[in-house]
Amino acid sequence: MSETRDLGGAVDGGGVERVVLTAHEIAARVAELAHEITGAYPGNEPLLVLGLLKGSFIFMADLVRQLDRPVLVDFLVAASYGEGTVSSGEVRLLYEPETGLEGKHVILIEDIVDSGTTINRLVPVLVEREPRSLEICALLHKRLSAKLALEPRWVGFDAPQEFLVGYGLDHGESFRQLPFIGSLKSPQ
Ligand code: 5GP
Ligand code: MG
Repeated sequence: MSETRDLGGAVDGGGVERVVLTAHEIAARVAELAHEITGAYPGNEPLLVLGLLKGSFIFMADLVRQLDRPVLVDFLVAASYGEGTVSSGEVRLLYEPETGLEGKHVILIEDIVDSGTTINRLVPVLVEREPRSLEICALLHKRLSAKLALEPRWVGFDAPQEFLVGYGLDHGESFRQLPFIGSLKSPQ
């Protein structure tokens, strides 16, 4: 079946400049990631899959449905601060996972790693809770950060250094519903 990279048709791609990853490309990679994650943990203990809201929600939904092992699903929301106002010790969770992390295999699901600030702030907070293991699965990685507190073990795609939207990623809460990932037109 052919898939168009056009933005027209049924999908309203207004504001999107070009399709970077089609829905089919994303689906194929998500299936691979699910397969790799399923095989990475011995035994039958549940994985605690923690979605970092909001951007990961669609990726997370597609991924967990293809994990062929017991899974616990929970979410967290990290406080967002203004640029440059936060040191690593000050991270706060606006929404706490109800599930305890202690002793569990935990996978943090990120939509996109950009500067790495989010990961660098969050990882120490999660490690403090003494999970049995902690890994990160990021759909997209811009490979900008020289030093991450924890390098994602699973990455969907290396991302261009553009502002991307769709498949959960937003600009001002718009575009999250797009089935593809596109780059946004620069403001005029
Ligand atoms: P970092 O803390 O690594 O700089 O950025 C991570 C967060 O910034 C992501 O979870 C996401 O919410 C936002 N972000 C970074 N790059 C992009 C992008 O290209 N598009 C969108 N929509 N959000 C981004
Ligand atoms: Mg965002």
